[in-house]
Amino acid sequence: MNSILSDRINAMEESATIAMAKKARELKGQGIDIISLSLGEPDFKTPIHIQQAAKDAIDEGKYFSYAPVAGYQDLREAIAKKLREENNIQEAKAENIVVSTGAKHSIANIFMCIINEGDEVVIFSPYWVSYSEIIKLAGGVPVLIEGDLENNFKATAEQLKAAISDKTKAVIYSSPCNPSGSVFSKEELQAIAEVIKEKEDVVVVADEIYELINFTGDHASIASFPGMFERTITVNGFSKGYAMTGWRVGYICAPVSLAKACEKIQSQFTSGGTGIAQRAALAGLTGDQAPSQEMAKAYLKRRDLVLELLKEIPGIKTHVPEGAFYFFPDVSAFFGKRAGDQTIHNADDFCLYILNEAHVSLVTGAAFGAPDCVRLSYAASEEELKEALKRIKDALSKLN
Ligand code: PMP
Ligand code: GLU
Repeated sequence: MNSILSDRINAMEESATIAMAKKARELKGQGIDIISLSLGEPDFKTPIHIQQAAKDAIDEGKYFSYAPVAGYQDLREAIAKKLREENNIQEAKAENIVVSTGAKHSIANIFMCIINEGDEVVIFSPYWVSYSEIIKLAGGVPVLIEGDLENNFKATAEQLKAAISDKTKAVIYSSPCNPSGSVFSKEELQAIAEVIKEKEDVVVVADEIYELINFTGDHASIASFPGMFERTITVNGFSKGYAMTGWRVGYICAPVSLAKACEKIQSQFTSGGTGIAQRAALAGLTGDQAPSQEMAKAYLKRRDLVLELLKEIPGIKTHVPEGAFYFFPDVSAFFGKRAGDQTIHNADDFCLYILNEAHVSLVTGAAFGAPDCVRLSYAASEEELKEALKRIKDALSKLN
């Protein structure tokens, strides 16, 4: 029966983050006390006023039909207003906004709309797992430019310049970054924008889904720089900043022609997002921002906690993440070490060893383009984080 599957799907990797989370869930189901630090998902509940807006929307009885394909007009207007006022993207209007079933879906729409067979997309690496698979599915060729631990995993404008070719169609990065937690400064993004502007038909996909979890206090949107609006697709959503992963609401702000193309593809694939979830998202955007700010404060506290605990583990090398909720330590010092019959050859083995021995789930850096690293999500309680780091330390001390 395998032969029924297309080459396209056979060539696709399963999402490593989701695969690891599934494995952790299965082990938990068997009664094993797993601490899951693999999935990048807020452990907070969606703020009460957002929940209430969804309940009200149900009671009103007006949102059970198909929503407009690109999203409710008032939500699109509220998003455009937010982008103008908070992100300084002055050109943003409702017509530039397409609301989708999560930012992952927004990204899939974009690449399906712009890639022709063989087009190249430059990815700032380490990168979020789904970029490369979505690009390949659309017929594109990912070209990685790599940041490393020494420069906080931030590839540079010079690297971008060297990687752009006549086949380049787009460039994609996330800031704050999943998996590294690094944040591009305004100056760094300006340098990147200058390189992109040198090429007529290259667009940049700016994934800003972790915008609200930024400890630098400074979030820069590349679409706000002179001459960049027409070349930028800003991606954002409600999953992270508003703890709304399961509601599945994301959006893009793009030049009108591209927004219309994304609306067209969405009209064939999903007919648009869920009405009730969009009403909740609108309440998130226009209502009290204090819960989001409180969550960001809690992540910062946890970051500092985990940083101290990681420093106590000999062999682990880490930078200090400035946003999102991930550490991305280099664990290559453990490659070649063993305990009993388990040998650690690479980051995959490292994660497997930690899962078996410490009952903590992490994700291999190989999935994010950095095979010396592993990703640890600290979207977990302080108690869980302390226990997990203790277990990891103990397990690693058994290696020699
Ligand atoms: N971009 C990045 C960098 C992410 O980490 C995620 C998390 N899933 C997404 C996009 C997609 O988010 P969602 O589909 O939940 O809106
Ligand atoms: N973005 C999260 C992560 O990286 C959620 C899982 C996913 O969508 O891949 O873990």
